[in-house]
Amino acid sequence: MSDSSLSPLLSARVLGLAQLGLIVLDINQQIVMWNQWMASRSGKSAHRVLGQDLFDLYGELRGQRLEQAVHSAMQSNLPQQLSPALNPSPFPLYPAGTWGGERVEQAVSVTPFTEGKERYCLIEVSDISIIVGRERQLRSQAEQLRAQSYVDGLTGIANRRHFDVALDRELRRAQRNDGQLSLLLMDIDSFKAYNDHFGHQQGDACLTLVAEAFAATLQRPADLAARYGGEEFGAVLPDTSSEQAALVAETIRAKIASLSINHSPAATRQHVTMSIGVATFDKDRLADAAAMLAAADSCLYAAKKAGRDCVIVYRQQQENAA
Ligand code: GH3
Ligand code: MG
Ligand code: MG
Repeated sequence: MSDSSLSPLLSARVLGLAQLGLIVLDINQQIVMWNQWMASRSGKSAHRVLGQDLFDLYGELRGQRLEQAVHSAMQSNLPQQLSPALNPSPFPLYPAGTWGGERVEQAVSVTPFTEGKERYCLIEVSDISIIVGRERQLRSQAEQLRAQSYVDGLTGIANRRHFDVALDRELRRAQRNDGQLSLLLMDIDSFKAYNDHFGHQQGDACLTLVAEAFAATLQRPADLAARYGGEEFGAVLPDTSSEQAALVAETIRAKIASLSINHSPAATRQHVTMSIGVATFDKDRLADAAAMLAAADSCLYAAKKAGRDCVIVYRQQQENAA
């Protein structure tokens, strides 16, 4: 029968080929093994570092998490992991063949063991630069996508960006065809009091309920329901006259009130309600997005002043009175 254990020559060859750093410390933290991977990335050959205290060799590691991990591993006899997020590159290691530049990002684990009567500690260092780089890339791509997205992350209805694009597109269409176009701006009443009473998380849940109910009220495929910002919502209603828009707004107002969501005792109403301002395209007076938004917003403000939970429609008389 042949001996199945690795010969010392074969073990040395395997250690030389390993694609991770292997360091063995004795009980005095002196380096008793330093593999080829460590040598080629640290610029320090094994024969230069063997017998040295690891923390004399790398003074910057003193008092850091790695030193604590080595101490705990030796004392508790339990393996330790360094969090790569908190300790991205403890050792000054650089990609093989390059000197200086960016340190490789490292995942480090520390494993205590006993051989004969001696106690040792194995430190394994892996290069996770590629994984970390890919993660960073994915995160930034996800952020880009979110920025380009047309959906509000909290409520799932259209976001402000989508609203702006739709309003612009529908305005151009109305101008071209001398068509009708209305706009609603709405704002939840006393929502600060809701948050103060129920907490921000329940505030978010309430926003989502209101958004879903509002969006479900719009019937035509071309209508757009959007979260305009915070606790404000907007609707773009193509081919809709001022009178029709007033009816839609009243339906939305009544729908939100009928949800009977309990409000804070400090609010003006017992249940959550919404105030709504309505403006309609007019090629002479309200011909661009800024003018339409300002008109709808002034009506929303008037609805708040009128006691909330109501709809106010922009009319020319208002403009003359202003
Ligand atoms: P008004 O009836 O005059 O509209 O009173 P209000 O309290 O609703 O108005 P105000 O603008 O003072 O407060 C709006 C509140 O909406 C403040 C803010 O904390 C809350 N809010 C805005 N965005 C969010 C959000 O995404 N989540 C939660 N939970 N609250 C939000
Ligand atoms: Mg507001
Ligand atoms: Mg409000």
